[in-house]
Amino acid sequence: MIETNLQKIFFFLKPIIEISILWFIIYHLLILLFASSRARQVFRGILILVLLYLVAQVAELTTVSWLLNKLFAISVIAALIIFHPEIRQGFAKLGQQHFFAINIPEEDTDVILKEITKATDILCRKKIGALIAIENRESLSAYAENGVELDAKISAELIEAIFSPNNILHDGGIIIQQNRIRAAGCIFPLPENTDISRIFGTRHRAALGLSNETDAVVIIVSEERGDVSLVFQGKLYKDLSREELFQKIKSFLKY
Ligand code: ATP
Ligand code: MG
Repeated sequence: MIETNLQKIFFFLKPIIEISILWFIIYHLLILLFASSRARQVFRGILILVLLYLVAQVAELTTVSWLLNKLFAISVIAALIIFHPEIRQGFAKLGQQHFFAINIPEEDTDVILKEITKATDILCRKKIGALIAIENRESLSAYAENGVELDAKISAELIEAIFSPNNILHDGGIIIQQNRIRAAGCIFPLPENTDISRIFGTRHRAALGLSNETDAVVIIVSEERGDVSLVFQGKLYKDLSREELFQKIKSFLKY
C-alpha cells in the first residue's frame, strides 16, 4: 500500500524532476553560449551553411548538397573541438555552484562593504595597487587555494596592510568569501581574448579573467592612476567614487 502510494508520488513527480534537470542544463548552456562572442560567430556560420543547404536542395545542386550533408555529419565533433573552452568552463561552473543560498544579513554586508571601500579609498590616495575579489554565488575556493590562506576578519587596516608594497603578500589578489578574507596572494586567470585596451595591464586583465569564469565582483585599485575600477561579468566600470563603488558592489552581490 505504502509502496504503491510512493510509486504514485514518484510517477507524479517524475516529469517535474525531468523538466527541472532539462531546464538547468539548457539554461546554463544558453548563458554560456551567448556569453561568448566565438559562439555567436559560429552560430552565424551555421546559419549561413543551413541557408546554403536549403538553396542547394531547392535548386537541386546535388554536389553542394552532398558536401554539406557530409559537413553536418561531422559537425558534432567540430562543435566539441570549437567549444572546448566553453565546455570546460561549463563543467567548472557546475562544480563551483553553491546549491544553497549564502545567508549574510544585510547589515553585515554593509559593514563589510564599508571596510572594503574605506580601504580602496586609502589605497587610491596612496597609489598602492590592489586586487580584491568578492565571492558571489559561485565558489572562489579553487582560486583561494593557490594563494596564502588567511581566514581573517575584514578590516580596512588589514586590506591596506596586505597590499602595502613591503608586504610579502601584496602581489596577486585577495579573496573575500562570505564575511572573511579567505586568502591573499591569489593568482587569477588571465582572459583568453587579448583585445583589451592597452592601457590595462595584468592586474586589470586578471580581474577580467576571473569575472569571465565566475560571477565574482572584482575591485581593482590602479597604482598608476590611483583610481578604483570594478569588474563584473566581464564588464569594467572605471574610475568610481567611493559611494558609486559601494552601491555597485551591493547591486551585483546576489546574497
Ligand atoms: P596598475 O594600473 O595598478 O599599474 P595594471 O593593470 O597596469 O595595474 P600591472 O601594472 O601589470 O597591471 O600590475 C602588476 C600587478 O598585478 C602584479 O604585481 C600583481 O600583483 C598583479 N597581477 C598580475 N597578474 C596577476 C594575476 N594573474 N592574478 C592576480 N594578480 C595579478
Ligand atoms: Mg601597470
